[in-house]
Amino acid sequence: MSGEFELIRRYFSDLGYDQSGSVRLAVGDDCAVIAPPANRDLVLSIDTMVEGVHFLAGTSGDKVASRLFGAALSDLAAMAATPAFFTLALTLPSTDSIWLQAFSVRLAELARQYGVQLIGGDTTRGPLTLSIQVHGWTHPGKALLRSGARPGDRIFVTGTLGDSKGGLETQLKNIHGAQVPYLQHRFYTPEPRIDTALLIAEYATAAIDVSDGLLADLNHILEASNVGAMINPDELPISAELHQWVGAAQSREWALTGGEDFELCFTVPAILEPKLSWALRDHRVGVTCIGQISAKPGILFSEGGRVWPVEPQGYNHFINKHKV
Ligand code: ADP
Ligand code: MG
Repeated sequence: MSGEFELIRRYFSDLGYDQSGSVRLAVGDDCAVIAPPANRDLVLSIDTMVEGVHFLAGTSGDKVASRLFGAALSDLAAMAATPAFFTLALTLPSTDSIWLQAFSVRLAELARQYGVQLIGGDTTRGPLTLSIQVHGWTHPGKALLRSGARPGDRIFVTGTLGDSKGGLETQLKNIHGAQVPYLQHRFYTPEPRIDTALLIAEYATAAIDVSDGLLADLNHILEASNVGAMINPDELPISAELHQWVGAAQSREWALTGGEDFELCFTVPAILEPKLSWALRDHRVGVTCIGQISAKPGILFSEGGRVWPVEPQGYNHFINKHKV
C-alpha cells in the first residue's frame, strides 16, 4: 500500500496508554519490546472482524473500533486478567481518511480508558478485516478458567442479555423508536467487564464471556468442568428497553441465544455468595444469579415448578453462514 508508513504514523503511532509500565518500545521498529513485570503470567487472545460478517458494510470507523476493542478486551475480562497492551492487524480496501480518523480516534479513547497501549501491528490492502490481539497479566496460576465449576456453585451473569441481538435486529429491519439508540449502543459498544472480573475473581470458580449466546457459552463451562446446570429463565436479566421493544418471549429467546453481549457468565460456590454480594455492594454493574451447577451433564430449565431439558444452541460460524 502506498503511503502505508504515513498511514501508520498518522493514525496508529501514539495510541493508548501504558498503565502497566511494561512497554519499552511500541510502534515503529520491526518488533515491539516488552519488559514483563516480575511474577505475572501473560494472558493473550486475538479477535477478528470482517465487514459483512461481523458488522454491516458501510459501518463508520468509530463503531467498528468500539465493537472490535470491546470484544477483544472482553476475553481478558473472562480470564480475570488486567489488560496491558495490544496489537492491530488491518486489511483495508482503500485509504479512506474519514473512516480511519474516526476509527483511530475512538480506538485511542478506549485504549486510554482501559490503560492499554497499541504496540504494533500490520497493515495490508484487501477486503476490510480487522484483528486485535490483546495481552494482559494475572498473578501466577490465577487466570479464571472455564474448567473450575463444581456442583452446587451458583451461576451469575453481569448486566443484561439480548440487547446486542436487539440492536442488530433494529438495523436489519430499519426500526425507529425510543429503544433503538440504547439497543444499537449495546451492539456497537460492548463494555468489557474488566473491573467486575477483577472484583469477582477471588470468589469465582469458572468464567466465560457471552459471545455466542448464554446457553452456548454456559455449555462451554459445563463441558470443561464436566458438570450440568439448572437455570431459572425467569431470572434472566433483561433490559427494560429490550422488553418494551419485543416483549417477554422474544427478549428471553435473545437473552439465551442472541450472543455478542460480552457480559460475563461465572460460577461461585454457594458458601461464598454473601462475600460476593459484599464485594459487589457499590459496584455499578448489575450481577444476577440465574441458576446453579448440578452434577449431571446437560442444561435443565426450572420455572414455576416445571423442569425441562434444553439444547445448548448459539451462534456457530460454520453453521450460521452470516452474522449480519
Ligand atoms: P515490517 O515490514 O518490518 O513487518 P511494517 O512495515 O509491517 O514492518 O510495520 C512497521 C511498524 O509499524 C511496525 O512497528 C509495526 O508494528 C507497526 N504497524 C504496522 N501496522 C500497524 C497497525 N495497523 N497498527 C499499529 N502498528 C502498526
Ligand atoms: Mg509487516
